[in-house]
Amino acid sequence: MKYLDLHCNHVFDPTEKFAITPISEKLNNSFFSSGVHPWIAEEINETDIQNVINSWSSEQVALIGEIGLDHFYKESWEKQISVFTKQINEIKKIDKPLLIHSVKTYEICNQYLKKINSPIIFHNYNGNKQITKELQKRENIYFSFGQNLTKNNSASFQQLPHIANNKFFLESDEIDNLPMIYEIACKLKNISVNELLNLQANNWQNLFKGNEKLLHGLAQFLHS
Ligand SMILES: [Zn+2]
Repeated sequence: MKYLDLHCNHVFDPTEKFAITPISEKLNNSFFSSGVHPWIAEEINETDIQNVINSWSSEQVALIGEIGLDHFYKESWEKQISVFTKQINEIKKIDKPLLIHSVKTYEICNQYLKKINSPIIFHNYNGNKQITKELQKRENIYFSFGQNLTKNNSASFQQLPHIANNKFFLESDEIDNLPMIYEIACKLKNISVNELLNLQANNWQNLFKGNEKLLHGLAQFLHS
């Protein structure tokens, strides 16, 4: 079986999975995400922020992120806002999809991202019914489902059935259990694993249209 993993934080077998990994993890992979995570907003200096921003023009950087805001890191809130807005201003110059880390900050992230026209993906999505409806009003907002799906009382588990098939992605993040995430998504969407993989392949092709290198790698993986 082949899987597509939008956000993978661990070593993986490239014959089984096509994945995007954080550039900072230095995994032996071809395609990366790059951004200043809100958890390190307090400690990072201006030079390092600029180095991250400079990396965005690299062909191998497929996603800008994780960037965002985290309610549980209240002590660094001001700094989080400043690092997040600084990156948003730079993103306007570069047309690549964004990977957003949002913990109990969906409304405020949505406000800050109002003027962004590139695709915006909320990773490890776990928003409630009300915020999901609000976010769905924007054509360029997508949802990536991961570990929260394994808890059947999570908002994530409740909301996936209400997300359009062309608006969601799947991810493993820290835990190497993607087949299980796919299995749960199949049940919630009432489709087979093959149908889900085809659907994900289409979503990846749409998300990364314009990124020839990634599309070529993806096609090779899917046909190998
Ligand atoms: Zn995250």
